[in-house]
Amino acid sequence: MKTLLRLIELIDMPEDEAIAAIAKSVCPPMGTIRKSMASHGSRGFSVPNVASIRSVFRECDYRCEYCGSQLELRIRHVTDDLSDNSPSNLKVMCLRCCIRGERRDIDSSCQVGRLASAIVRLYDESGRFPENRRILEEAGVKQIGGYTDFVEFMKWRFAQERTEPELRI
Ligand SMILES: [Zn+2]
Repeated sequence: MKTLLRLIELIDMPEDEAIAAIAKSVCPPMGTIRKSMASHGSRGFSVPNVASIRSVFRECDYRCEYCGSQLELRIRHVTDDLSDNSPSNLKVMCLRCCIRGERRDIDSSCQVGRLASAIVRLYDESGRFPENRRILEEAGVKQIGGYTDFVEFMKWRFAQERTEPELRI
């Protein structure tokens, strides 16, 4: 939790916005989930109503059915039958598991979280932004891959903190 607070401080995000981001992640608006189902996977089929979607979330404890994550949750049909909106055919799934097609053999840990924590630790140890090689080592992650933009963002934010300390409270 200490790393999380330090990260929020370093990226200079107001606390209420950080809380809003968490709230939106753990409980995405059910109406938005429904609209997204209508415009993507279930195109041409009827989509479950908001109450049904909410009960699927409750049934799955508001976590991805496959990896337990509470990030970027959506609803997916278990079978290929997209017209079957019965509760037994609907599961909560996170974006990563959707992309991976339910493969459990792939590392499903939160890589961007590990990368961010590693950067905060290394930065506070040395007072400078770490090289990518050190970040990967510290995070125990093989490649930055899809998180290059996030790492670049952190580098840019931290540089601001270093050059404008008098503006930071
Ligand atoms: Zn998942």
